[in-house]
Amino acid sequence: MTAVYDLVIVGGGPSGLTAGLYAGRAMLKTLIIERAITGGLMAVTDKLENYPGHESITGGDLSAIMEKQARKFGAEIVTGDTSKIEKNGAVFTVFYDNKNVEARAVIYAAGSVPRKATVPGEKEFTGKGVSYCAVCDGAFYRNLRVAVIGGGDSSLKEALFLTKFASEVVIIHRRGELRAEKIIQEEVKKNSKIKFMLDTVITEISGTDFVEKIKVKNVKTEVISEHSFDGVFVFIGYEPQVSPVSGLAELSARGRIIVDKSGETKTPGLFAAGDVTEKLVNQVATAVGDGATCAVAAEHYLAKS
Ligand code: NDP
Repeated sequence: MTAVYDLVIVGGGPSGLTAGLYAGRAMLKTLIIERAITGGLMAVTDKLENYPGHESITGGDLSAIMEKQARKFGAEIVTGDTSKIEKNGAVFTVFYDNKNVEARAVIYAAGSVPRKATVPGEKEFTGKGVSYCAVCDGAFYRNLRVAVIGGGDSSLKEALFLTKFASEVVIIHRRGELRAEKIIQEEVKKNSKIKFMLDTVITEISGTDFVEKIKVKNVKTEVISEHSFDGVFVFIGYEPQVSPVSGLAELSARGRIIVDKSGETKTPGLFAAGDVTEKLVNQVATAVGDGATCAVAAEHYLAKS
């Protein structure tokens, strides 16, 4: 028999875990379905210094605290990859792995996955020198030379982390100006291991068993050049995981879920939180706010239904 929950939360990142904490405290029978590790992208962030209440904390430690808090108030957490959500009458069915579960309300907080550079060699060398996670793979590059693609907060923060291991880190960014927060830019510019290739895009990754070389193009001069690198870390933004709710939620032009001020989608009882939603700022601090809002709104929705 299919289990029926008051609330199923898809995604165990900061927004999902916060929703779980609030829903548990509201005595809702709550299940969180997480694809991989609780904390999501936060869990593989080296250090957070802009999450209020902690002057500095690793993403792994903050994830563990959030998970513990959600469990403490009764939220159940399972691992599973959610493929589809359906609504029939007032009941949602959430399909994950080869199972399904029913819920009276759903908070969709599945987060996002790293955007690919889509250049020749990227797919072939993923796991063999091409990486999307410095915290996971950085230690393999002790005394080696790595390229970091992108000019946003992720790219610069991960480049700083990589200097713990690599002999040199070269940030390759498609424009002359970086997008990252000024305070992170200052820290990067002070680090003697970090160099820049600006106005430059990567066009090819090559090697034999492992990454050995990359080709880049200067977008101003159009000159293509080849450089030796042992690793390529790609941080050019993230793509929201929205396909399980296609049909139930309206999407923005950027492919993010449009929600109202209570976090509800166009389908009553289906809420969305965190990186999957259309909003200005994607930070852990804003994700937890989304999670809290959705959980309280779901509680109100359930009380009326
Ligand atoms: P962003 O979207 O902020 O930045 C992506 C970077 O990659 C930009 O510099 C962009 O260039 C570049 N880029 C995008 N597409 C391509 C492409 N196809 N080829 C080459 N370059 C490309 O993503 P982030 O992952 O850095 O950050 C995501 C969110 O998470 C942001 O809101 C960020 O603030 C937040 N974050 C905050 C952190 C913090 O400590 N405060 C840490 C990490 C993330 P361009 O600038 O030209 O658009």
